[in-house]
Amino acid sequence: MTRFISTRGQAPAVGFREALLAGLAPDGGLYVPQAIPRLPDATWRDLRGHSLADIGTTLIAPLIGDELPRATLHALLADALDFPIPLVPLGDRISMVELFHGPTFAFKDVGARVLARMMSAVHDADAPPLTVLVATSGDTGGAVAQAFHGVPRTRVVVLYPHGQVSAVQEAQFTTLGGNVSAIAVQGTFDDCQRLAKEAFARADLRADANLTSANSISLGRLLPQMIYYAHAALTAGEGPPLAVSVPSGNFGNLAAGLMAARMGAQIAGFHAATNINDTVPRYLASGRFEPRPSVQTLANAMDVGHPSNLERIRWMFADQVQAVRDAITSSVHTDDDVRRAMRRLHDEHGYVADPHSAIAWLGALRRLEQHPDERVLALATAHPAKFGDVVSDAIGRDVPIPLPLAAAMTRTRQVTHIEARPEALVPLVYA
Ligand SMILES: *Cc1c(COP(=O)(O)O)cnc(C)c1O
Repeated sequence: MTRFISTRGQAPAVGFREALLAGLAPDGGLYVPQAIPRLPDATWRDLRGHSLADIGTTLIAPLIGDELPRATLHALLADALDFPIPLVPLGDRISMVELFHGPTFAFKDVGARVLARMMSAVHDADAPPLTVLVATSGDTGGAVAQAFHGVPRTRVVVLYPHGQVSAVQEAQFTTLGGNVSAIAVQGTFDDCQRLAKEAFARADLRADANLTSANSISLGRLLPQMIYYAHAALTAGEGPPLAVSVPSGNFGNLAAGLMAARMGAQIAGFHAATNINDTVPRYLASGRFEPRPSVQTLANAMDVGHPSNLERIRWMFADQVQAVRDAITSSVHTDDDVRRAMRRLHDEHGYVADPHSAIAWLGALRRLEQHPDERVLALATAHPAKFGDVVSDAIGRDVPIPLPLAAAMTRTRQVTHIEARPEALVPLVYA
């Protein structure tokens, strides 16, 4: 059954398995559900108090059809989402939604862990192993590597910009070994993303190495990210209208939130909070999408100059920029703003936030200035210890490192260094 189409409308509709393994559609677009059904109010009422796996099954099953039996879907979601996603109130209008209690202490664990299990569930048992090629600006690499580490008949190749990810982030994908290889590229995250795209564009390479992707364009990451929006909205319960402030880079997180709202999650609006990589705020202001090279900031997982998932968002609104504006407000925050925000969160609320989560909080404040009648959920996307140096400089005290992170820091790193040229990457993909 065909259920997924390309945002660019020039590729055939495909089923879930094909869309999941393909990554990009053949016309260069991103896969999106052909239809995003609104679930009945009664279904939403019944979901109150249910687990992440229950909520996820209810949201995802109608989108993917019967290629994954409901029971298989529920079991893999329960296995992947075995950590809590708590709401922490800061004052009476804002709550942080802590998405960082998974194994790599960042929200990408949600998408990556579900993706790995979905791929393994649909992968043909007789086929050669899947090679997952992933470009990372920091957190994706660790989450994807951890998510697939030890999963039979899969390999993971992580591409990252040399010297531009934190020591803790680097430790998370360079120390696993086994079916995980790490490649440091002389260049930026955009160079890494371009290399990965070029590898995927080569049909020979794709087929021989059985290449697949796990970047934030991947449908298998997008779908599960709807779950915490629904869960948080159900947990927040009755009250003033809810908005969600999303610290955004590639805009996969926000795209999933919009989908959850289309399916009927009680969310009145979204706020995209970015660092100075402000391609989307500029798009909202001018109506023109003008990507720029990315600039390095404290919130480096959001250092994206060409946000791929905006294409999904524009598709959802039939490319009408006014409709996008009605759904999403935005704000841009400098590194100085972020340092001040981390200090204020600590001094006024006793809350220790990482730079990305601090941007979410700043976005929530901005949203409330514009919509004083609302409550705002701010998505806390990384554990402060992942950015310990920056956070402790800002708040004037040490940030305790969780045990698994400390352990990763002491393990031996295995890294291959390459220049940002496709010829340098190709042999490593085959290895
Ligand atoms: C990836 C990431 C983001 C940005 O999410 P997108 O889906 O790319 O917009 C924000 N914060 C952290 C900690 C991340 O790792």
